[in-house]
Amino acid sequence: MRNLQVNGERLWASLMELARIGATEKGGVCRLAASDLDAEARRLFIRWCEEAGCAVSVDGIGNIFARRAGKNPDLPPVMSGSHLDTQPTGGRFDGAYGVMAALEVVRSLNDIGYETEAPFEIVAWTNEEGSRFSPAMVGSGAFAGVFGLDEALATPDNNAPGLTLGGELRRIGFAGPAPVGEHPVGAYFEAHIEQGPILEAAGLPIGIVTGAQGQRWYEITVTGQEAHAGPTPMPRRRDALVGAARMIDAVNRIGHAHAPYACATVGFIQSSPNSRNTIPGRVFFTVDFRHPDNDTLTAMDRELRAACAEAAATQSLDCAVKEFWYFPPTPFDPRLVGAVRDAAAAQDLPHRDIVSGAGHDAVYVARVAPTAMIFVPCVGGISHNEIEDAKPDDLTAGCNVLLNAVLEAADASP
Ligand SMILES: [Zn+2]
Repeated sequence: MRNLQVNGERLWASLMELARIGATEKGGVCRLAASDLDAEARRLFIRWCEEAGCAVSVDGIGNIFARRAGKNPDLPPVMSGSHLDTQPTGGRFDGAYGVMAALEVVRSLNDIGYETEAPFEIVAWTNEEGSRFSPAMVGSGAFAGVFGLDEALATPDNNAPGLTLGGELRRIGFAGPAPVGEHPVGAYFEAHIEQGPILEAAGLPIGIVTGAQGQRWYEITVTGQEAHAGPTPMPRRRDALVGAARMIDAVNRIGHAHAPYACATVGFIQSSPNSRNTIPGRVFFTVDFRHPDNDTLTAMDRELRAACAEAAATQSLDCAVKEFWYFPPTPFDPRLVGAVRDAAAAQDLPHRDIVSGAGHDAVYVARVAPTAMIFVPCVGGISHNEIEDAKPDDLTAGCNVLLNAVLEAADASP
């Protein structure tokens, strides 16, 4: 196998320049999807791609593709990228690393005048974070046919009633003319920071991502009866918040019961009327379950429903459990995962297999194209935080693996 190297300093410099767009005082980035800052980052990315000789197109959901020609224009492109949007208190590397690493692959191939057989495309997917517009991964999801285009464009702004993803993309000039999907991909690679502590703790620069955890997201509404906090005796209460508290505790217990791989989180709760001297009549909260094994995820679902029913019954409450979002565990393509592993081994980079705990654009792309991911460690395992950090050497190592895995796929005989 070839063993080409990227220019790690150039990769770092581009990451740092990109991180200035939306930079926060604490050293992070706030660059919400389809905001003015997102547009500025997109324009910088497009300028860099054009300077690197790529042909840029934008599709109807704002996904940006930058194509470097190959010897054989009839082959489907090898593609790599990630996202440019961030969480409101996000870091400099989540998403940005995958896009800049793919750009660095192009620049490195240009440096030595290397022509791949298949074309190579850099992609920046729209609204991966799902923070301003929920759900997450809307651009890659629309590309993969998970969401219809109209449905994706109609995704509402969580904090500004009346605004939609489609309207905001039009406003910033990124509702493009290219069709969404109908875009064959020969192979897709995504480089990303791990966003967890495993690689750092093991002292390994490279994670070979074999697939992504399955996820089940729920919206749960508990209904009791509002009543005066003084005159209502304890036995007569139908306190929705007490019921919800028991359900939330059950969620946590279910997570622990399926250790070490299960994750179970309640991250959002609204109690109504949220008044200190009124017994809560209605509580709304969310549940996020994750596990790499679908049978376990199904068992967790059963346990959640049973726990909610029991907590509701003992407090004389009504409880509605609505599954809001589900995607099954996603194994990545064995051949491409092997190409990533071979690239790491060829460069003597210590590595291990790992399952992605987070959702990524790659998880949706995997439905329409052979897909693999490369993880690099992030400091302290911290992400979705302004202090998110990564070591330049690890970022360079991940990009070297990406470059050589891309070449393996792009030059493979069809
Ligand atoms: Zn990300």
